Amino acid sequence: MSRVLIVGAGLTGSLCACLLRRELPNKVNIVVWDKSRGAGGRMSTSRSLNDPSCTVDLGAQYISATPYYARIHSSFYEELLAQDILKPLIAPVEGMMLKEEEIVNYVTPHGVSSIVKHYLKESAGAEVLYDRHVTHIHRKDTGWEVCRKGGTPERFDIVVLTMPVPQILQLQGDVGSLMGENQRRMLEAVSYSSRYALGLFYKADTRIDVPWAAKYVSNNPCIRFIAIDDKKRNLASKNCGPSVVVHTSVPFGIQHLEEEKDAVQPIILEELEKVMPDLPQPDSIKCQKWRYSQVTRSVADCPGQMTLHSQPLLVCGGDGFTHSNFDGCIESALKIREHGQQMGSELQHVGDGQALTTAPQEVMAQSPLFSADVQLKLYRNLCKDLL
Ligand SMILES: Cc1cc2nc3c(=O)[nH]c(=O)nc-3n(C[C@H](O)[C@H](O)[C@H](O)COP(=O)(O)OP(=O)(O)OC[C@H]3O[C@@H](n4cnc5c(N)ncnc54)[C@H](O)[C@@H]3O)c2cc1C
Repeated sequence: MSRVLIVGAGLTGSLCACLLRRELPNKVNIVVWDKSRGAGGRMSTSRSLNDPSCTVDLGAQYISATPYYARIHSSFYEELLAQDILKPLIAPVEGMMLKEEEIVNYVTPHGVSSIVKHYLKESAGAEVLYDRHVTHIHRKDTGWEVCRKGGTPERFDIVVLTMPVPQILQLQGDVGSLMGENQRRMLEAVSYSSRYALGLFYKADTRIDVPWAAKYVSNNPCIRFIAIDDKKRNLASKNCGPSVVVHTSVPFGIQHLEEEKDAVQPIILEELEKVMPDLPQPDSIKCQKWRYSQVTRSVADCPGQMTLHSQPLLVCGGDGFTHSNFDGCIESALKIREHGQQMGSELQHVGDGQALTTAPQEVMAQSPLFSADVQLKLYRNLCKDLL
């Protein structure tokens, strides 16, 4: 069976795995590798060290659906709403800039990583492995040899990269030489903001008396956003204490980017005390440096994906190829799927010669990814290859 490696278990990677599985059930071996210890990427939900039931979203806070995206991605919203993964935001947010009327904001009662976990679950049978830090990718015969830190290299037929663009550019092996000069220029032009996030976890029965669930701060050089995370997510019954998330401003993030988290955390706490002098002492704290926070300049014309090599297929996507939010990641995953003609072609080799004995119409019916013309071409190429 063909092996497809998806690098990154964030929203784009998990959705790619899910879409691929739904299109080609039982026809492909999907493997997801992520360098971190859990799913989510920038949609991560962290747990308190002292009480794992106390959680906080350190990255993405809301899913904001504009009327346009609510319409074109309605099936994605409906699926998540039907499973109670998304719920409308009803808690008060101070200072939220509503750029467009009729934007509907959603929260994730079980933490924002529940979206990513849902898509990984829907990729039934996909092998999802953490602590897998990809370092090199080499072209080997008809596929790719992928090396990771501290492990033996493995062979894959197709590789999909979904990490932030600077991390794609850091990959060694053949990736750099396979990239066209224009592609490299386009990727090098992509930029991200940087910021820190603090998660503060409190003991049960701690009260945080503020009239808001989240607040944008405009008069502090360090603090930009604060949320009483459980209140924002509208958690009805809680057996644990409240949790608070603090995002710094981007200028602060950039100024302290190369410092150690342990050195930056006390500075943020000092500034937080100025903004919220009555905030109780937390039980534990988690500090996160988002070196690549949100995309400030995406790949020109937002193509959704970029094919670095077509046969064997090496393709990259993620919010750097669209924009930094839920809908941007959906767009990218859909584009990766659309442009996966090679994927379809290679995967038709998979079914134990099944394609050889299958009429073109049946092959087309099994492959709803592509237009009839493309499918017919793929089928002809396949017959040419195999005969
Ligand atoms: C502070 C902050 C606030 C945000 N607020 C919102 C919001 O309110 N609403 C919203 O919709 N969006 C928000 N976003 C943006 C949103 O989180 C991102 O657009 C989205 O999560 C990007 O998903 P992704 O899968 O493309 O990338 P990522 O989530 O970055 O996933 C990439 C994954 O690749 C892994 N990886 C990287 N390099 C390697 C390697 N070499 N080997 C193996 N694995 C690797 C990483 O560990 C990561 O898990 C926010 C982001 C941040 C940081």
